[in-house]
Amino acid sequence: MKKTEKILHLKSCRGRKLRVVREHYLRERVPCYSGLCQADCDNTGAKVLPGDLTHYVVPDVAVVLDYLEVLEFRELRGVVFTQTACQAVQHVKGRRQYNRLRNLLKDPQHDCVLFANEFQEYSYCPREKGERQEEWQTRCVYSTAVWYYNHLAGMKDVVMITEDQAAAARYGSLNAGVYVISVRDFLVNFLPELTAAHDLYAAVSQALQEEESEVAEKKEFAEHLPAEVLEAGVKSGRYVQVQLPVHLRAGFVTAEGLSTKNSDLSWGVLVCGAKNRNRAVHGDVVVVELLPRGEWRGRDSALSRLSDPESTGRVVGVPQRNWRDYVVTFPPREGPQAQSRNTQRLLAVPWDHRIPKIRVSTQQADALQDHRVVVRIDSWESSSLYPNGHSVRVLGRAGELETEVQTILIENGIHVPPFSDAQLRELPASSPERPWAVDAAQAAQRRDLRRSHLVFSVDPLGCEDVDDALSVRRLAGGTLLELGVHIADVTHFVAEGSLTDLEARARATTYYLADRRYDMLPAVLSADLCSLLGGVDRYAMSVVWELDAQTLAVEKVWYGRTLVRSSYQLHYELAQALLDGGAAEVPELRGLGPAERDARLAELTGALETLTRVARHLRAHRDQGGALELEGVEVRAQLDEQRNITALVPRQPLEVHETVAECMIYANHWVARKIQEAFPHQALLRPVPPRLHFIAIATCFGEKALADSLDRAVDPRDPLVNRMLRIMATSAMSQAVYFSTGLQSQDQFYHYGLALDRYTHFTSPIRRYADVVVHRLLTAAIDVDEGRDPGRAVASNKDLEETTRHINNKNRASQQAQKLSTELFQCLYFKERDPQSDQRCLADAVIYSIRDNGVLVFVPENREGQVVANGEGGLCEWQSGAVRRQSDHISTTSSCGTSTFRLFDHITVCVSVRSTHCHADALHLEAVSNRPHRGAEPKRPGAQGRSQLVQEVVRLAEEASQQAREKAARRPKLSREEREFSQSQTPNLYSLLEEVRELALLDLEAVSQVAAATA
Ligand SMILES: [Zn+2]
Repeated sequence: MKKTEKILHLKSCRGRKLRVVREHYLRERVPCYSGLCQADCDNTGAKVLPGDLTHYVVPDVAVVLDYLEVLEFRELRGVVFTQTACQAVQHVKGRRQYNRLRNLLKDPQHDCVLFANEFQEYSYCPREKGERQEEWQTRCVYSTAVWYYNHLAGMKDVVMITEDQAAAARYGSLNAGVYVISVRDFLVNFLPELTAAHDLYAAVSQALQEEESEVAEKKEFAEHLPAEVLEAGVKSGRYVQVQLPVHLRAGFVTAEGLSTKNSDLSWGVLVCGAKNRNRAVHGDVVVVELLPRGEWRGRDSALSRLSDPESTGRVVGVPQRNWRDYVVTFPPREGPQAQSRNTQRLLAVPWDHRIPKIRVSTQQADALQDHRVVVRIDSWESSSLYPNGHSVRVLGRAGELETEVQTILIENGIHVPPFSDAQLRELPASSPERPWAVDAAQAAQRRDLRRSHLVFSVDPLGCEDVDDALSVRRLAGGTLLELGVHIADVTHFVAEGSLTDLEARARATTYYLADRRYDMLPAVLSADLCSLLGGVDRYAMSVVWELDAQTLAVEKVWYGRTLVRSSYQLHYELAQALLDGGAAEVPELRGLGPAERDARLAELTGALETLTRVARHLRAHRDQGGALELEGVEVRAQLDEQRNITALVPRQPLEVHETVAECMIYANHWVARKIQEAFPHQALLRPVPPRLHFIAIATCFGEKALADSLDRAVDPRDPLVNRMLRIMATSAMSQAVYFSTGLQSQDQFYHYGLALDRYTHFTSPIRRYADVVVHRLLTAAIDVDEGRDPGRAVASNKDLEETTRHINNKNRASQQAQKLSTELFQCLYFKERDPQSDQRCLADAVIYSIRDNGVLVFVPENREGQVVANGEGGLCEWQSGAVRRQSDHISTTSSCGTSTFRLFDHITVCVSVRSTHCHADALHLEAVSNRPHRGAEPKRPGAQGRSQLVQEVVRLAEEASQQAREKAARRPKLSREEREFSQSQTPNLYSLLEEVRELALLDLEAVSQVAAATA
């Protein structure tokens, strides 16, 4: 090792220059992370560049600073990032961009490595006297390129890419095998097919040029204060630092995350208007200064109670930008459009109302009109009314189904590319000709239940991903009952840290949209190897209880890995028919003789009956503990052989649903106990605090009625009102979050909805990553019991906290995307109808909250079976007239007389669609009368109403596919993007809209929105 001195000239984020002298140690051996290394570099345990590349790429510092997003394309392989460039990113671009680079370096799917060039004796170049920093950095990078070429003994050509033309000229012909070219030349020569990268490069470089040419105009905003001033101000309590959520009209910063002792701020601080927001964008971390009391304001928004003036402030600094990808729409050229000096600069309107308009420089101004485009913000100078950005890729024409679905995904940060080949190669193969088979060594380590236990599953019809199966039998001459819950052993196939695991973790959940789903795991696992299908051997994780046959008290619990073969793959209706003793044909018993068939049918029915008895007992036990009756929220997609969704199946009110659910709740509860006892500080649980338990109900009743019991406050004869309340409570609870036990005290573990002291998710590892984590914890707990080392299976409390935060975020995104896609289809349905004349636009609704100038309503299906969700928070607008509010009712007076609307009244609303060009369409509700809606004749399915609907929808579907064909012919360039994103097949609009009619899921969503607003 050689010691030298290194002089650093750092530019702080405040713009001050610092000269730092550091001791600098040089080594001969610094890992090169190349698979071709013959020099014994210690490349173990790290990502290594594969040997099959034609060349390595070494980007210059400025390229890494400005074009990192171009370097992020996976098609760019063999990229060597220099330590010099990484440090520059950290200093110049800040933590966020630096983390982005680090994530790229960690991403196993991207062939790039970090080389510590400044520690390598032969690649290091000390800065010369008078040498400019940029020149020196470029020399360092070039020196690295040369080092690689020599280190690999000329086996690999090295391409350095730089935007510095002088450097390209100077170094270009210095060494054979080391090429120095511009980014554009690189893309043109080496990646001619990658048009997305070419377009992105053009957009970024244009944005950079614009930035440079921008002359300082008059200031539109106050300058942000220097970092040290902000820091000191926050410390002294003069300023507060918060993450900014901007609401539609006024930015209201919640008290959450406020680190201040100032009692004025206990309820948060209001930031009103663009000037006070001072270039802060939704999601940014900002520092706020309070305005003098005389300038405080009240919050105002439609249909909310007016508030007194609150603490109001203005943004004085933005310590951290949290800009993401935004979907924007380029308005039509003839429309109202602020054009700046340069005609190539367009003002694009973000889909998300909370984001300001973004000025985008583009050479495709005409082509982008009316399209939804993904853009990124580059900067927002104080001289500019709008932030500057560049376009990343085009999603398609606004208003088209596929474009709108992709918009929903991107706006919710959902990234679901097709599973990569590298990932699929990790998994065992299975095909109809050569099905996967159980491994003998693995089987020997497992408890074999194939002959001893009658295992069966009960799922919605056509379910492919069978997460769970059940068994029940009598032991010890009938004095004991043995209940078994068997769950797909996903973690056997998905090793921690594997590519499949990383992708599953990134997704965190399977996403169900109204017309499609995006699986968390590849189909070979979710629909085959992990799925507990009938008649085949499968690995499972099991929980087996021995219960006293009389009292059903638990005598013993066993957890472990098993080998099962499900005998029956039942669906709910069939299982219920067996229980009811009706005629039911079990497919698995076809072709058997009558005697054998009857015997096996009796065995199966007996097992179902025993399960029902056990479940009723468990349920009664929980009810005593105060469990709330929940409306099922689960909806599963029903698929045909081609994996097209043929139906979305809501939970039906059959007892067997509750029976299966109860067994799963029981397994989740016992696994929660087990992992929490084994790892008191590192278990993943899912509690429901009492706050959420009551939120929805409080929304309905207000403070006064909250004290009354649910039963007394609600008319028990109105099933609709009862259902509404259950749905509201359930949806409030679905906002429950996962957490690590190390973070909270034990009294926080209670699940109030289920009345259980501990609860987690264990039973759906195929479609929830939380369950995968819990399976690993359970495995580790079993290992500890049996005296084995649990190894690294147990994450630290901190890592687990990070994981739970990620999963909670993705779950929120998933719920939001599902809600938005459902609304999208509802809007498609109602857009075709004229609310003035079409009776189908009228619906019955129930009032659940009275506001100053309106009511919030719940809209269930009307008599024709149509379902509509509420628009903005169930907002219901008055057509005309003066409005007066009393405590429990509201009256409107117009020329036609006075109408009164009371809490829990049924009223008639008219549903219409409000179209906006740049944002999502929204359903709009209008109160038509204060009487319940009486639809026309109640129609049975198959009657006239249905066939009309079918015709209507078929017409729509044909038009849609016609448009899709025209679109494909018109713009072939887009089809690649479209392919990239649509993982499932083009939706069958006809079947979808039929399902939208009946889906009970929909009402739920509106309610959760209200609950969220109250939270
Ligand atoms: Zn090496």
